[in-house]
Amino acid sequence: MTELTTLGIKAIRDGVAAGDFTAREVAEAFNTAVAEAAALNAFIVTTPDHALAAADAVDAARAKGDALGAMAGVPIGMKDLFATRGVQTTAASHILEGFKPEYESTVSQNLWNAGAGMLGKLNLDQFAMGSSNETSYFGNVISPWRKAGSNAGLTPGGSSGGSAAAVSARIAPAATGTDTGGSIRQPAALTGITGIKPTYGRCSRWGVVAFASSLDQAGPMAQDVTDCAIMLEAMAGFDPKDSTSLDLPVPQWAANLNADLTGKRVGIPREYRMDGMDPQIAALWDQGIAWAKDAGAEVVEISLPHTQYALAAYYIVAPAEASSNLARYDGVRYGLRDLPDPGSGSGTGGSGLQDMYAATRAAGFGDEVKRRILIGTYVLSAGFYDAYYNQAQKVRALIARDFEQAWDHCDVILTPTAPNAAFALGEKLSDPLAMYLNDVFTVPASLAGLPAMSVPAGLDADGLPLGLQVIGKPLDEQGVLNAGLAIEQRAGFVTKPEKWW
Ligand code: GLN
Repeated sequence: MTELTTLGIKAIRDGVAAGDFTAREVAEAFNTAVAEAAALNAFIVTTPDHALAAADAVDAARAKGDALGAMAGVPIGMKDLFATRGVQTTAASHILEGFKPEYESTVSQNLWNAGAGMLGKLNLDQFAMGSSNETSYFGNVISPWRKAGSNAGLTPGGSSGGSAAAVSARIAPAATGTDTGGSIRQPAALTGITGIKPTYGRCSRWGVVAFASSLDQAGPMAQDVTDCAIMLEAMAGFDPKDSTSLDLPVPQWAANLNADLTGKRVGIPREYRMDGMDPQIAALWDQGIAWAKDAGAEVVEISLPHTQYALAAYYIVAPAEASSNLARYDGVRYGLRDLPDPGSGSGTGGSGLQDMYAATRAAGFGDEVKRRILIGTYVLSAGFYDAYYNQAQKVRALIARDFEQAWDHCDVILTPTAPNAAFALGEKLSDPLAMYLNDVFTVPASLAGLPAMSVPAGLDADGLPLGLQVIGKPLDEQGVLNAGLAIEQRAGFVTKPEKWW
């Protein structure tokens, strides 16, 4: 029998349906692989029983001849930003350590309804803030990838670093991710896997720990474009519990995949060819352009004139929303509560409520989260609101307009996903600006709410994966997936990290 842990979503689902193997055998194989890969630190908690119970339900349904769901028999990893009933949900923070929600996020519930099971909760940057998975309270994730001839630990990217490491190490066939400014696409690119952020509003945010509500979107991270299409269909859909959820039917993305780009125009934004761009990234992009032409597309140069302001606008808007969203962690309602010693407080006679808030938040949040809260409250403060927050919102509108105007000239846009391959652990941690620069190609589509995906496209000189990004029109996930498929077929990316864990 094929090694079950090499299989992706479609192969597992179809194999279970055909009786080639049972869902239980699949779940057992992945549970074992997860247990053996503790060195990657990809999971914060593992839930082997959840995976087995879901598998047994699928095997029983099949035995009865019942119809099977689109994810039937597929055990997945769940980013620990999704609330899962009865299973610790932390957002990789100390402040939520031990929090077991009484409810299930809509996206995870949709996946269980489609027949998936859960291998565990995946590590991430704390509150999804970061690009390297080093801000987690539970320790960094180590990428399964290594530079040729080196054993130095590399980042899997972030914030969905646990998801990226697990899928690329083949200890999970697929995982959920969330993307606020690039957290599905950048880690996918750095680990040689595929991930798509849908149009804002496609996937419900209900039950997802909020970072920046006007940007946050869930999406799949998987081995290939087809698996992403299948899983996104299962995740997406209207949810009355999320006021920004789109009340639209979910298209049949998987059934309508088509890699023929004849008649399609692929836009190449000239502003993305930045000064000092790594020549390997530039060469990869040129290769992608050649592949798009080979697939029948017409390639056109386009302009997105406000691109240079996107990162600055994002790092105002996202912290502003984060500072407001994270105000709820006050030590009263859930999670950590730190009570300073009586007498040490600022109130009269013993510590007061303010002291409890301060002590809880000081102990419960990591440095990067505190940095964002400080920036966010600053840009929202009465004296600086117009200079920063209002200005950033105007820039955001201009960036969205750039894309609207570009759609007169093209159907999808092709760019690199990230400006670099995976970097060493610790390399950028002390320099937030260097870290934030990793999002330079992903943030504009986030600000505009557009669907965008990363597809593995090649290896750099050190043998590390690089990704190409496809950005699409609002609601045109199909166009994005189709262009991604055309690239995937031509890139023929099959390299996997060598097992050292
Ligand atoms: N790296 C970006 C940030 O730190 C994006 C994070 C994300 O998309 N969740 O904000």
